[in-house]
Amino acid sequence: NVVANPDIHEILRRTFGFPGFRGQQEAVIGRVMRGQHSLALMPTGAGKSLCYQVPALARNGTAIVISPLIALMHDQIRSAGAAGIRAASMTSADTDNAATAHAFRNGELDLLYVAPERASTPGFQALLERAEIALFAIDEAHCVSEWGHDFRPDYRMLRPVLDRFAHVPRLALTATADPATRADILRQLGIPEDGMIIAGFDRPNIRYAITPRQSGPRQIADLLARLPGAGIVYAPSRKATEDIAAQIARTGREAGFYHAGLDPERRAAVQAQFVRSESMVMVATIAFGMGIDKPDVRFVIHAGLPKSIEAYYQETGRAGRDGDPAEAHLLWGVSDFSRARQWLGDVEPERLAGEQARLNSLAALVEAPDCRRAILLRHFGEHPPAQCGNCDNCENPPTMIDASELARKLLSA
Ligand code: ADP
Ligand code: MG
Repeated sequence: NVVANPDIHEILRRTFGFPGFRGQQEAVIGRVMRGQHSLALMPTGAGKSLCYQVPALARNGTAIVISPLIALMHDQIRSAGAAGIRAASMTSADTDNAATAHAFRNGELDLLYVAPERASTPGFQALLERAEIALFAIDEAHCVSEWGHDFRPDYRMLRPVLDRFAHVPRLALTATADPATRADILRQLGIPEDGMIIAGFDRPNIRYAITPRQSGPRQIADLLARLPGAGIVYAPSRKATEDIAAQIARTGREAGFYHAGLDPERRAAVQAQFVRSESMVMVATIAFGMGIDKPDVRFVIHAGLPKSIEAYYQETGRAGRDGDPAEAHLLWGVSDFSRARQWLGDVEPERLAGEQARLNSLAALVEAPDCRRAILLRHFGEHPPAQCGNCDNCENPPTMIDASELARKLLSA
């Protein structure tokens, strides 16, 4: 590796140009350096990548990074390369997989990114036998759990691979895991309970506001009129992204839409446009956002109910990663809940209780008369102050009159 006598602080300064570690980074890196298996729970933007990149340089061998999205890997490889780190990926989208395998065998890679479905193939396991492995990093580790909001069956195939290299430290990383998901990640990936490091979930610069949705496009337009900067509007369907983007464009604001139905070139282009822009509104389904490195997203608007509190936290967490003030607005309607309840009718019986609890937590959040942040943080097991002073309910405590007016509006909606 690049540093002969590895000192993690020196690597941080020299390779990454940062004066110090943030939050729990050093604690996590210390565990990896000691060869211990760990789960790092750190909010979006806290700097999880550094937790495996630094030990990848400080330990002998190559770090194997399991990551769920090719776009996310390529982003990371680009920025790692800019820092002088030798990083590559082996995915269906890479044409130089043979050369990458060759470099790995020769010990010429610091980081090797791989998709979970490839990691568990016999061919890749045979490759792993051919060179030294510094650590396994399992990014977006909530994907391993059916309790998580983003379950990927391929993550379940990782355990035998990890166990085959039982002496290699494994580091699972995620921003979102309620206590049930955490326990599941530990169990699925064979990480001891005392190997979990939890960083604070609070994002104090994000102001939360949750309001009932009005029919028609005016509400989002009014909201956007007083929200400068670039931001994301999450819409419930592909069609809705296109309709809302067209409405916004008509007001003269730069707007684009993004959903999984667009071809890859179109998605890449509109994403690049958004990353560059200081004023664009990206209207998207939840297919958009994971791994997008845009620190100056000033707002996230949910035009409908998110899937869960975890999803809401992760999606709103894309705002304000630079630490400057940012806003999260959720617009919801009773129809969102009736649709979700209908959908519960199709859920397998063994998952029903969990899904119901998820929906109830969301209902408690949107209907709450008190601090939104406190509800969010308590959901993640924290003990926050009763009032944050930076959410709609702290700023304007709802009165009984408001509440009955609200009920009337909802009933007549
Ligand atoms: P996460 O995966 O937790 O969402 P990233 O790893 O993408 O976060 O890091 C978010 C940003 O924080 C990146 O721009 C990264 O360079 C920066 N960062 C990470 N660690 C530090 C640090 N110790 N000091 C300053 N900036 C950091
Ligand atoms: Mg990350």
